[in-house]
Amino acid sequence: MTDSTSPRPERVRFAPSPTGYLHVGSARAALFNFLHARHTGGKFLLRIEDTDLERSTDDAVRQILESMKWMGLEADEPAVYQTKRVDLHARRLEELLAAGKAYRDYCPKDRLDQLRDEARAAGTIFSYRETMFPAEEALAAQEAGAPFVIRFRTPPGEVTAFNDLVYGRIETANDAIGDFVIARGDGSPLYNFTNVVDDVDMGITLVCRGEDHVSNTPKQVLLYQAFGVQPPRFAHLPLILGTDKQKLSKRHGATGVDQFASLGILPEALLNFLALLGWAPSEAEFDEVMTMEELTKRFSLDRVNKSPAVFDHEKLMWMNGMHIRRLSAEELVARVLPVLAERFPGEHVSGNALVQGDAMLRGVIDLAKERCRTLIEFGDALDFFFAAPTAWDDKAMRKLLAAPEAVERLRETGRIIAATWEGAVAKSGIAGQPESAERLEAWCHTMEEPLRAFSESAAVKFGAIAQPVRLAVTGRTASPPLFHGLWFLGAEEVARRIEACAAAAEKLE
Ligand code: GLU
Repeated sequence: MTDSTSPRPERVRFAPSPTGYLHVGSARAALFNFLHARHTGGKFLLRIEDTDLERSTDDAVRQILESMKWMGLEADEPAVYQTKRVDLHARRLEELLAAGKAYRDYCPKDRLDQLRDEARAAGTIFSYRETMFPAEEALAAQEAGAPFVIRFRTPPGEVTAFNDLVYGRIETANDAIGDFVIARGDGSPLYNFTNVVDDVDMGITLVCRGEDHVSNTPKQVLLYQAFGVQPPRFAHLPLILGTDKQKLSKRHGATGVDQFASLGILPEALLNFLALLGWAPSEAEFDEVMTMEELTKRFSLDRVNKSPAVFDHEKLMWMNGMHIRRLSAEELVARVLPVLAERFPGEHVSGNALVQGDAMLRGVIDLAKERCRTLIEFGDALDFFFAAPTAWDDKAMRKLLAAPEAVERLRETGRIIAATWEGAVAKSGIAGQPESAERLEAWCHTMEEPLRAFSESAAVKFGAIAQPVRLAVTGRTASPPLFHGLWFLGAEEVARRIEACAAAAEKLE
């Protein structure tokens, strides 16, 4: 496949501001940078934009790093922290001041407000210019030691343009930009300035980020020009909306990468899902379920779409189920085990007779995998393996076991199961070999035969025999495949549960 956007190895970066958890919108930007770096054989870097001391927290930094690690989007070089680069920023600021490309502006706030109001009244967009505050007043203010900010001296009359890889050519009149603030009076630089200084210093060749930064880009291009540096290429990513076409927010459900992790979403599913938010491979028809390897091979920035992407939680759930089913048996056990261990703490997972050793655990996890869309759902689907039900679905009890003859039929079914068990074990040769799917199938088949015969002689449907057993052993009317489940529970446990349920049914009022 040819890729016109990546003729050379690219140095890209993800540059989050650590003011909260890692939002999926930012995670998508990180992913696209990562894929572009990998696709071009370049480098993916991480820069923590922590200069806003009031809003940045160590906790947010930790969360971002954890989420990046969880997704496997680790940087190729040590993370750069902007707060550790104060000297570099100060030097670069001094350079612009010395070259007359920036100046100290003493215009007081009330004057600025007044100018802004006048522009509004005249129906024009306000952009500040040095000439708006008379030079003699500025000098007097300076001598009096008045507060100031540092502004960039935007060349008048020109047009600043850049070619966005997604949005095309974007031109902005410098007079609409005005002289923008690049640092506070105490010398602390602002976002546009530090962003450019660090991108230059880190040798960034392409900046890929959310489209909310399109309006910052002309200012940044002006700064690159002021430093005499060729700007990087830019690719802005489309907005992410909820299914109601409103900007994605907490109202739509989880938006933090850490939240998805605790919902039992696999990182590879989240990455796959995020990759398709604004990007699609070139084929008209393609399998949406892709591994990181496939994504890396196929990804190209020139396939990013500018129309807003829709974040559909249901689709993410579906995709997660698809990725769950693609995991190897070993891998699936490794992912599900922590969920089960947390949900059923103590001896249940490690030493309980129901799940001795990996083979047994693998067996029950495998039983549930067709039904589970998240790792958490394995806990719901498999809970009956770890503890006998103490209550049974009330509606089902009343429907299935209200009549005394139905309870008697359940007990008789229990007796048939007990009487068939050992013979079925011998015939299928399954004992101690839960990993043998064929033997387990054979056991289930042998177990089912006398129950089918019983349903015929009792002149009831097979469901009238099987459903009460399912209710008795799981407490519910839906479960992983019933006979497989019985085998994993073991003869004694099944017998105990059937009797407990029958006894409870007799007490129904
Ligand atoms: N710190 C900015 C943000 O989190 C970075 C923007 C950029 O990538 O240049 O939005």
